Amino acid sequence: KMNTDLGQHILKNPLVAQGIVDKADIKPSDTVLEVGPGTGNLTVRILEKARKVIAVEMDPRMAAELTKRVQGKPEQKKLEIMLGDCIKTDLPYFDICISNTPYQISSPLVFKLLNQPRPPRVSILMFQREFALRLLARPGDTLYCRLSVNVQMWAKVTHIMKVGRNNFRPPPQVESSVVRIEIKQPRPQVDFNEWDGLLRICFVRKNRTISAGFKSAQVMAILEKNYKAYLSEYGPTPDDIEASQNGEADQDVEMEIDDGNSTKKQKATGLSAVVLRKVERVLKQTEMGEKRSGKCDETDFLKLLYAFHKVGIHFA
Ligand code: SAM
Repeated sequence: KMNTDLGQHILKNPLVAQGIVDKADIKPSDTVLEVGPGTGNLTVRILEKARKVIAVEMDPRMAAELTKRVQGKPEQKKLEIMLGDCIKTDLPYFDICISNTPYQISSPLVFKLLNQPRPPRVSILMFQREFALRLLARPGDTLYCRLSVNVQMWAKVTHIMKVGRNNFRPPPQVESSVVRIEIKQPRPQVDFNEWDGLLRICFVRKNRTISAGFKSAQVMAILEKNYKAYLSEYGPTPDDIEASQNGEADQDVEMEIDDGNSTKKQKATGLSAVVLRKVERVLKQTEMGEKRSGKCDETDFLKLLYAFHKVGIHFA
């Protein structure tokens, strides 16, 4: 009896299972992490090729079944089963990740892989079709979103194969796709939380202008708090010194707040006014303010992040 709350859909087509394992190009020296081995249809094929398999399974019944499947066979020595939630488990080093991913953990699993101190050489992952298409989407595509930019910043994603729902038991509601994720090495020299913090603001509504995302009292309060911390640690930036010389630093500004339904004006004074002026200037100088996030790629956002950092504006 399958527990579909845990995303238990067993891959019953041996050709698809073999196809996934072959695509990983496992070397005899490789350690492979398998997330959610279930009854072991992928695991036994991985064991044929790898030096070692670490299989993280949350359901003790499944873990017991897998143990039974390799019991007394030579592969038994190569298999280490870790019982628990893969997302909450500290993982040892692995060269490759293979998973017929339980769909509830699709996004956290991708981010966990991206943030491994020594990321795997390659990951071959089965996802719901729409999630896979989000990972692959490019600017202008309907499914392009924060996840797309975020993943494509740190990794190269390619589509491997479509897998219809009838290849699983029980069949899931939707179609699936297998993707390959190769994490960029060396890692781009950008702080993950800064990058993600900027994207969160820009993608609140991806079809509105990027400026609109900043017309929020909440966002401005965070930027002001971060700027205050920056100031006390590093002191004023060149644009601050210029502003105090030309008297701009003491001027109040009118701030437009846009909650999506209506806009209202609010007076910004002191540090709030300083931060607001910086934000407006950066959005103008980079020409990103009037663009829509759904049409911008990772280079555009990187340019924007650098311009903000130059004037001491931080997102995390
Ligand atoms: N790999 C098997 C196959 O392809 O036939 C089973 C895949 S099934 C889609 C997903 C498996 O992941 C289930 O065995 C489920 O119990 C397990 N699972 C669900 N959530 C998990 C989590 N957070 N950590 C580890 N395993 C999990």
